[in-house]
Amino acid sequence: MEQTTLYRKYRPITFSQVIGQSFVVNTLKNQLTSGNISHAYLFCGTRGTGKTTVAKIFSRSVNCLDLQPNGDPCNKCEACTGLLNGTILDVSEIDAASNRRVDDIRLIRNEVQYAPTALKYRVYIIDEVHMLTGEAFNALLKTLEEPPKNTIFILATTEAHKVPLTIQSRCQRFDFRRISNKDITSHLLQTAKDDNFELAPDAASVIATLADGAMRDALSILDQCKGVSGGKVTLDVVQNTLGVVGRNMYFNLADAIADKSMGDALSIANKILTGGSDASVLANTLLAHYRDLAVCKNVDSPEEILDEPSETIEKLKEQCKKYSTDKIIACMQGLSEIIANLKFASSPRVLVESTILQLSA
Ligand SMILES: [Zn+2]
Repeated sequence: MEQTTLYRKYRPITFSQVIGQSFVVNTLKNQLTSGNISHAYLFCGTRGTGKTTVAKIFSRSVNCLDLQPNGDPCNKCEACTGLLNGTILDVSEIDAASNRRVDDIRLIRNEVQYAPTALKYRVYIIDEVHMLTGEAFNALLKTLEEPPKNTIFILATTEAHKVPLTIQSRCQRFDFRRISNKDITSHLLQTAKDDNFELAPDAASVIATLADGAMRDALSILDQCKGVSGGKVTLDVVQNTLGVVGRNMYFNLADAIADKSMGDALSIANKILTGGSDASVLANTLLAHYRDLAVCKNVDSPEEILDEPSETIEKLKEQCKKYSTDKIIACMQGLSEIIANLKFASSPRVLVESTILQLSA
């Protein structure tokens, strides 16, 4: 049997189920019930905040044969069911990260000359629209300037500042907010209830903090914890499971340092510290990570020395290609020095952060 993720299984199919975006949702519902629909929308906001989910609900509402008085789609009529089960193709979801060329947009321009086949409106949901090439943006702009009848564009992006102003000015913009920890926590608890497994409130709250405003991330962490817990997700389970995630964080941190991405390095360090590790744990774990890298860089069979799962060793081997032995030694020295001084430091966190900055320089 195929496992359905919690995110897919409980994805909202009406506006009323969408969490934490009341301004966006209410405005869209008003437009739907008053029939005052725009032909182009720009949905902005960080990942996992519901942009595509809302776009899909909207695309059903505009086409629904029995639109509910509150603006929700009925999810029962021919149009709704056809869209939900994928038999009606007038709503297209396009990922601009992999379809970013002008030819991809030209296909849309040709298609929109014809009326939708089964529905009132053809809807194009273009995800990560900021990834389009300049040429593709120009082609899209031409389409938006002469809006074809019965066509709606919903452009979604995590980086609105990368969308040309000419495009932005043709769209009605909606900003999706990060979802509050409180809203995420209560939604996780409700999801666990609906799905018949136990979730401790303190465990839910730690997951919410780590998800950082993104419901999709929260549900995928919960999925991961549920998978190992046998149906009882406690704080212990979350902490142990995230220990695995924790190692990934150190891989990401070492990547950022190798790439000299100071901003990324600082933000990952910040996540590790907010996740419950103190400055000394961070410094010691990072030092241990560099020691592992040093072994992989210089020993033919590191598995004989390192007590790590084989997939971790493969990742270490891959990562040490980014480092020279000298750089690894410099990182180890830098960290060893501050570890000795940490307990005397008035602000251990600042000391660790400044060291990470130096190593990334
Ligand atoms: Zn319907």
